[in-house]
Amino acid sequence: MTFQQVYGYEPTVRYSAPGRVNLIGEHTDYNDGYVLPFAIDRRTVASIGQRDDRVLRVASAFDPSSVVELTLDELDPSRMHGWSAYVLGIAWALREQAGADLSDKRGFDVFIESDVPVGAGLSSSAAIECGVALAFNDLWELGLDRKTLARVGQYSENHAVGAPTGIMDQSASLLGEQDAVVFLDCRTLDTAVVDLALEANGLEVLVIDTRVEHAHATGGYKARRESCERGARILGVEALRDVSVEDLPRAEERLDDETFRRVRHIVTEDQRVLDTVRTLREDGPRAIGSLLVASHESMRDDFEISVPELDLAVATAVEHGAVGARMTGGGFGGAAIALVDREARGAIADAVTSAFAAAGYREPTVFTVHAAQGARRD
Ligand code: ADP
Ligand code: MG
Repeated sequence: MTFQQVYGYEPTVRYSAPGRVNLIGEHTDYNDGYVLPFAIDRRTVASIGQRDDRVLRVASAFDPSSVVELTLDELDPSRMHGWSAYVLGIAWALREQAGADLSDKRGFDVFIESDVPVGAGLSSSAAIECGVALAFNDLWELGLDRKTLARVGQYSENHAVGAPTGIMDQSASLLGEQDAVVFLDCRTLDTAVVDLALEANGLEVLVIDTRVEHAHATGGYKARRESCERGARILGVEALRDVSVEDLPRAEERLDDETFRRVRHIVTEDQRVLDTVRTLREDGPRAIGSLLVASHESMRDDFEISVPELDLAVATAVEHGAVGARMTGGGFGGAAIALVDREARGAIADAVTSAFAAAGYREPTVFTVHAAQGARRD
């Protein structure tokens, strides 16, 4: 399916935006902490035709039989359903969240295609939102900057789609640069692009998708958030971001064992993000391996969001020479990443696949990602 086949004419422009991988900094976002994602070389492309009326039509290669239609006067989350909310919600959020005046604007025909795996924790959702947000911002000449568009994407996902997510995914998808990570302070929303320099160091990032569905993700995610809030309340801070590694011995005296371990993960993970940024700047990517492994151990033992498949992927990758590895994303399934020498990639991928077979687990999907440029007009 193509734009031409759906709408019967050629599109005027194409915009694309990438999915993302989080290098380190897990569950720190809602604790006002730090994250370090990068945009990947898997993108969603939005082909767009400009219309003379106020109609917005959206279609996806994903679901080519249904074309969803709404006018710019009807924009409201109650009228947005299923995947099309990821597109239509952006127009609504540009008005609602960023204050754009759409009263004199014309509509578009939009066609979405993507090679970002859906639901693998690589944020196919942000890839749609950010490509569309950049396109609408340009074509409607709204003049909003990329940080504002990231907030628009998050607002749309929270209120039009109805998923309570942070701003990491959109920040990575809009601000990512080739062979670099995006350092994001989730309290101030300050960002900095930090060189990853994998290319120059002969390294690559392998994604090992365990294909374990995030079965307990919703319940587990909610419970972890509650533990973090409880910890912050008892410690008398606004968010766990305000607790440092030096404060942990005192925190241990005041918290029950489980809450303390949840808090310790967040506090040490924030520190690991800061250490990773400093290490990348001073010593390069080969030196961050132990930070990745420590992050995984903290999620496995303290935050308890790993699963045996993720632990096996990480242990096998490290045993077979990975510089470092960790589960990435919200946990309870999903993917792990491994930082590997380019030449070792095949052997490590094979070792992980064999280990999964030997353990009787479902075959994982293993592929390489590169840190890529953020959303752009193609
Ligand atoms: P993730 O962002 O981790 O891939 P999400 O559940 O946040 O998972 O987003 C996946 C949803 O985004 C899909 O269920 C679908 O509604 C929408 N989506 C992603 N890619 C496409 C696409 N190419 N076409 C239409 N909808 C898509
Ligand atoms: Mg998503």
